[in-house]
Amino acid sequence: MTSSEYDYDLIVIGGGSGGMACSKEAVKYGAKILVFDYPKPSPQGSSWGLGGTCVNVGCMPKILMHHAAEAKQALSDAESYGITNVDPKAAQLDWGRLITGVQGNVGQSNFGYRNQLRKRDIDFKRAYALLKDPHTVEYEKDGAMETVTAKYIVIAGGGRPTYPDIPGAREHCITSDDIFSLKKAPGKTLCVGASYISLECAGFLTELGYDTTVMVRSILLRGFDQEAANMIGAYMENHGTKFIKEAVPTSFTKNSEGKIVVKYKKTDETAEHEEVFDTVLLAVGRTADTSGLKLDRAGVKVNPKTHRIPTTNDATNVPNIFCIGDMQEGATQLTPTAIQCGQKLARRLFANGTEQMSYEFVPTTVFTPLEYGMIGMSEEDAIAKFGKDKLHVYCGNFVPLIRSFSQARDNDLEKGFVKLVCVADQKDRVVGFHYLGPNAADVIGGWAAAMRLGLTKYDIDETVGVHPSNAEEVNRVWWKKGDPEPEEEYACCG
Ligand code: FAD
Ligand code: NDP
Repeated sequence: MTSSEYDYDLIVIGGGSGGMACSKEAVKYGAKILVFDYPKPSPQGSSWGLGGTCVNVGCMPKILMHHAAEAKQALSDAESYGITNVDPKAAQLDWGRLITGVQGNVGQSNFGYRNQLRKRDIDFKRAYALLKDPHTVEYEKDGAMETVTAKYIVIAGGGRPTYPDIPGAREHCITSDDIFSLKKAPGKTLCVGASYISLECAGFLTELGYDTTVMVRSILLRGFDQEAANMIGAYMENHGTKFIKEAVPTSFTKNSEGKIVVKYKKTDETAEHEEVFDTVLLAVGRTADTSGLKLDRAGVKVNPKTHRIPTTNDATNVPNIFCIGDMQEGATQLTPTAIQCGQKLARRLFANGTEQMSYEFVPTTVFTPLEYGMIGMSEEDAIAKFGKDKLHVYCGNFVPLIRSFSQARDNDLEKGFVKLVCVADQKDRVVGFHYLGPNAADVIGGWAAAMRLGLTKYDIDETVGVHPSNAEEVNRVWWKKGDPEPEEEYACCG
């Protein structure tokens, strides 16, 4: 069969990070492409345009809210530098103005993505796509079902926030699908969950002045280095975020004032507790909506436990159907990995490419007020893999430069932190890289490339850092866990 037997060479289901990147790469090699994108409205009615999670309800609006929080924090820093007539405590956030700005940015991205497809002659349908058979996709148009065929189909449907099976969750709670377009200021907020999304949202809400509580079922940031995760918790607590630890919600109801009554249980108690909030944000994971795609009609297998699609080199069990991004079983759920996976797949399908996606040493940053950049393994995972006696773990604290004048300088909870987890008998090869401090994402990016090339502690020591910067703290780490506590006084300039 040749591709001319089909309407398209490639149909991409999902116009998010992975789907957009895959289609823009494939068109470079002459492929005729159709992209479907349709976000089902959230239970609270939020909906958005082309571009997927990252630009509409993920990374981009999140980072803008994070920057808003940083701008407010900068007022305190300004005061410490002697800038007068600044009263950080009197500063007020105009939530409506912030949301208008964030949504303006989202709208520009939607427009930009639509134009990118148009300019490249990539066809686009704002419709929810279903599989009919291995080469046919079905969608609704003006109340009737239509079909279209392609040689290859790429499924890039991403994920959506998980709603726990708790009474009142869907009726009364919001998720990350709603927070960035919330019309009314959130007020007193409960964030349920203790991973990336919950802690990032709780972080910016606290810094922006809202009374914010995080409900933690077990630990903070599962999968991340726990020493680093607990430092984030302590920093946030020091900045006013409250934590209800080892607890899960049991019901959400509305009282006569329209506020949300949250009942919850602590894991070691049978008694139920109760607290009233203006807003409850659920951030308890994300679910791939594979059930809606009718994958069975094309014979595509799904893991019934995770709802994600197992693949080998991005191919599903049906050879002409592929899956990339958050919907793919085992993929790292991040925008740059979805993009790279989509681009590499397009090159393999249309340009004789041979490169496969690798998820090793993918850098990631948690944008909590104390930012946390990480590459590779946590200390816990490295111990499980190599054994404690096979590791050298180097650590160091530092005062972020911008805090040099502030009272925070003397507060251990406000300090930055670097940890390098190294395998001793592999010339101290770095397998875990952890940085807490300002601009974490910018600091760690280059080190990820070095780790792919086999970075050792010796290489880090031999690399000259940039002075003065927070990033050079990585080059300065010398104390090894297990050695006597360092007595040397901190000296930033030699
Ligand atoms: P998506 O971007 O989710 O796109 C999938 C698209 O497919 C969606 O538009 C969906 O509506 C559409 N779709 C689904 N099914 C169908 C169908 N049947 N027919 C038509 N369309 C369909 N990652 C980072 O790297 N850095 C960050 O800082 C970061 N922050 C985040 C913050 C939040 C709050 C969230 C929720 C996520 C964040 N992420 C971050 C993760 C990142 O957004 C995702 O990993 C990335 O968007 C996944 O891309 P994707 O292409 O797999 O799916
Ligand atoms: P995660 O799956 O990472 O974490 C879910 C959290 O919710 C955990 O703390 C979990 O606790 C808790 N939880 C799960 N179920 C319940 C429940 N029934 N009651 C109470 N707590 C519960 O999800 P996120 O939504 O935070 O993030 C999803 C993905 O999105 C991330 O893995 C990441 O790839 C991506 N992302 C990336 C960001 C970035 O790059 N900066 C930012 C935001 C998201 P427990 O540990 O006990 O299981």
